[in-house]
Formats: sequence, structure tokens, C-alpha cells
Amino acid sequence: MQTSKFLLATLREDPAEAEVISHKLMLRAGMIRKLAAGIYTWLPLGLRVLRKVENIVREEMNRVGALEILMPAIQPAELWLESQRWNTFGDQLLKIKDRNKHEFCFGPTHEEVITDLARHELRSYKQLPITFYQIQSKFRDEIRPRFGVMRGREFMMKDAYSFHLDEVSLAATYAVMFNAYTRIFSRLGLKFRPVLADTGNIGGNQSHEFQVLADSGEDLIAYSDTSDYAANIEMAESLAPALVVQFSDNKMAEVATPNIGTIDTVASFLKVANKQILKTLIVKGKDVPFIALVLRGDHELNEVKASKLAELASPLTFVNPGEFKELFGCDAGFVGPLGLNMPVIVDRDAVNVKDFICGANKNDKHLTNVNWQRDLPLPKIADLRKVVEGDLSPDGKGSLKFARGIEVGQVFQLGRKYSQTMRATVLNETGRAVEMFMGCYGIGVSRTVAASIEQNHDERGIIWPDQIAPFQLVIIPMSLHKSYRVKEVADKIYNDLIAAGFDVLLDDRKERAGVIFTDMDLIGIPHRVVISESGIDAGTIEYKSRIGATSENIKIDSLVAFMSEKVKR
Ligand code: ATP
Ligand code: MG
Repeated sequence: MQTSKFLLATLREDPAEAEVISHKLMLRAGMIRKLAAGIYTWLPLGLRVLRKVENIVREEMNRVGALEILMPAIQPAELWLESQRWNTFGDQLLKIKDRNKHEFCFGPTHEEVITDLARHELRSYKQLPITFYQIQSKFRDEIRPRFGVMRGREFMMKDAYSFHLDEVSLAATYAVMFNAYTRIFSRLGLKFRPVLADTGNIGGNQSHEFQVLADSGEDLIAYSDTSDYAANIEMAESLAPALVVQFSDNKMAEVATPNIGTIDTVASFLKVANKQILKTLIVKGKDVPFIALVLRGDHELNEVKASKLAELASPLTFVNPGEFKELFGCDAGFVGPLGLNMPVIVDRDAVNVKDFICGANKNDKHLTNVNWQRDLPLPKIADLRKVVEGDLSPDGKGSLKFARGIEVGQVFQLGRKYSQTMRATVLNETGRAVEMFMGCYGIGVSRTVAASIEQNHDERGIIWPDQIAPFQLVIIPMSLHKSYRVKEVADKIYNDLIAAGFDVLLDDRKERAGVIFTDMDLIGIPHRVVISESGIDAGTIEYKSRIGATSENIKIDSLVAFMSEKVKR
């Protein structure tokens, strides 16, 4: 490609709307342009990168035998009513009507469509296992689209779906896909980590996310400093503490805490550590109106863990603090588990606190020296809290550390969630119709482009890994328009490099060298060669890598061989 025939749409200034570096650089480099909130056009430069990412994903899917298909973006409401997600998926689902008032949605994901396809096309267990995938636009009406294509509303996803006769086969394909993902993100040159994940809106039992490590990431992950345990903070567990309910001789007492109803203020008023106080949160129950959750004052409720408790109403619903007085006789800061007329569930770590302090269920009063089993029965114990750094890793190896991540992919063992609601069956060995087990596997292809920039940039711009660079190298001829010799060499090496299979950009603009260097650094071409009259006199051209501090002179004749050594393909 010659720059004169390309749309190089670089911007000098940082766009005001961009908060994270990848968004800034994608706009400045002229990779994307915004059409509406969370909706972007990919310009030629950006699309070259997107396609390269797609191709790596496609190669690895094909390698493991997944079959590429292309499903429609628009999906009929009937399928979503059948899977019972039409009303539960939430406002991310963009619903539309056609001229006959038939309802559709713009697909945020494709479990319904693929399950519908599978129930029509798959007849026998002999056709299983089978995996389909597509690379296609999704639409999710995100509340807060931001960071450019990182959290868009319309975005590119690779989604794959596998079908199985039994759970063993599902687990085997899950492992194959897990390894394919590891290869994909390694080939993309990313620093990433697979982590245990919640199954959220998609459903199912077992799931991992692939997280690209970056400070700007929206996800928090907890990982062991000695083992390979890693989990999204939503799922992360710590080693269960040994149960040591201790009795004390200290007498329980009621103390006045006038207007002092938060953990911090109670702690400083009574001169104790926050962890000596137990806090009580009240949520709606499934079969009873209310349930109390009790945690140590220094710990925070993990809502994902809580929402999995069968006793609680779904979705997890907190009682509004404003309603406490009327419902329970005191304000939210003064409730406690003793004498509270509802089931109580206590966090594992809150069980081990002796002589604890808690609300007295009367305004302006707390109880001190309260002990489980002595002053109140030990209720159901559960893991309710968010882990904190320094907690012991649940596998007993090392302690937990935190890092931020960008979720670029997620794999799920769905089980029979969709095949049951949508009756997707095959005949088994005995000729009986059985519901298939399913797995699903997503990669945010467009988000991955942004994630790569988050990990690969400097103050001058993007630094592409060779594998996904829009162009692997740029030829910069000095005084091209004045020197016939320079033009001749430029054309020759351009053609030679293209013939050798490189993605080459020849910057043939009538611009000052400084402008060209600045642009090429900004768009992140990993390798560059400069041709000059004086170089030609010496039979050399000047090579510099995007990250290298210095340049070196290369014999013109050996350039192709030199580049074949340098460029990772
Ligand atoms: P998130 O938690 O970031 O909202 P998700 O868990 O809802 O994502 P999945 O349903 O797992 O997303 O979709 C598969 C992949 O699609 C994600 O791992 C992510 O890389 C990508 N993705 C999801 N939502 C968006 C979005 N709004 N913009 C860009 N990529 C997205
Ligand atoms: Mg996800």
C-alpha cells in the first residue's frame, strides 16, 4: 500500500471524549470513528488490525475442528420467549419491530438461534460432538458504553457453541476450547490470564474468563502468588477458616451509641477494630419475607455469591435503609442478629469472632461481648464476602493478590439450560430422544484490538505486535519526489518485500520527514526503513524498530532476508 492511495486519518490532538489510552490512540491513529454512542466505523487502518485478529481466531477455531457458520444478527422474539430470556435478559436487549409488528431483537449473543439450528439439523448422537462458530456483529444496549470499542454497543464477537451427548464430552471440548483460547491470546502477543468466572446472564455451571492484564481494566481479578489459582473477584474464594466458635466469660452488655450507626463510627467510639463488629444486611427471601446476612465489619458482601443462595429472592434485593424503622423497629445501622425475627445466614469469617459487637435492634444501642452459641444459636454458615488481598488462596497454596483485567473472552459449560427449554434433542444409542449438553465460547474480537493497545503503547503512540500490525513495515524514502535514485530503490524494495509476503506501507507523501516519522510512530508500524541518497551511496538503508532506541544500516540487497529474520509471522 502507498500512503498516497490510503486514508491516513491521523489526528495531532488527544480527542477530549477519550478516557483510556487505547480509545485515544485508536481515534488519533485514524482506526475508528464514532457514529453514535458505542457505535463505531472501522476505517481502513483499523479494519486491517481487526481482520488480522479475526484471522488468528478463525485459524485456531478451524484447527480444533469448529465449523464456521454465519447466523443472522436479527433474531425473532419467539425464540427468546421459548428460552425464557425475552423478559429476563434486561435492557441490554435491543428489541425491534418489523412492518407487521412482529417483534425481533438485534442479537446480543446467539444461544437461541444456534439451539434452534441444532434441534433441526442434528438427529443422532453419531453427529456429536460438534462445534459451530461465527464471527459477527453483536448489539448490546450497554448502560454506559465507553472506552471506544472496549465497551461498545455494536461490537464484533467470535461466538462458538458445542453440542454433546453427555457431560464428559462437554468437559473434553471445553478443555480443547480453553487450550485454543490460550493459543489465540498467546499468538496475539497479549499478557493474559484465564480466571474462574461467574456464568451471569448466559447461564450454566462452569466458566472461565480470559483476562488481559491492564490497569485500565474494568474487572478485578484475584490470583494466588504461588499457584495458578485465579478468579474474577465476583467468584474469588479464600481458604475456608477453621471453625473455632470460642466462648468467653465476658458478659454481654448493651451500650449507648447515640447516632453512631456505621462500622467506622462504632469502631472509633468503642475503640475497637472494625473486624470486631458484625454488620447485618437485610435482603428479601424466597419463601420468607426477609433474611439477614451477617458479615465482619471489615468485610464486604459479595453480591454474586449471595445471589446464588437458594434461600434468597432472585434477583438479590436489599431492603431500602429508609424502610428499616417501619419494618424492623430501628434504623439500618442498629440491626443485629440477636433476637431478629427472621432467618440469619452468617459469613464463614464472622463465625469466628468472639465477643463481637452488633446492633441491638434498637436505635442508638449496640450490644458488646456477644458470642455465637452462647448468646444466640449459630445460624447457617456460608461464604458471603468478597476476598481481600492477603487472604489465603482456596487451594491452600499461597495468598491472594489483585490485578485489573480486560475480559477478552469467556467459555461456559452451559449444560442443558437451552436444550431443555427449547427441546433440542438427538437420539441416543438406544434410540431414545435426549437433550443435548452444550458449551459456548465467546471472544470480544473488537475489544481485543483495544486491549492490545492498552498493553502496547508509549508516549508516541501504538506499538503493534507484528502478528496484528496493520502494516508490518513502512518504507520511508527521503526526498522521493526529487531523487530518481531514491524512487528507484523505494519501488524495488517495496515490490521485493510484497513478493516475499510482507504487509508493506510505502510512505510516498510530499511531507517533511518529521511529520512522516510522527505519523508512523503513532499508528504503530513495528518496523521501518529509511532510504536516502547518502545511504544508497553506501549501498545501505537505515532500519529501526518501533521500540528500538537506535537504528542500524542494512545492505539493500539483504533487506528481505533481514526482514524475514525480524518480523514474527
Ligand atoms: P462484560 O462483563 O465486559 O460486559 P460479558 O461477560 O457480558 O462482558 P460475554 O457475554 O461473555 O460478555 O461476551 C463474550 C465477549 O464479548 C466478552 O468476553 C467480551 O470480550 C466481549 N464483549 C462483551 N460485551 C462487549 C461490549 N459491550 N463491547 C465490546 N466487547 C464486548
Ligand atoms: Mg463474559
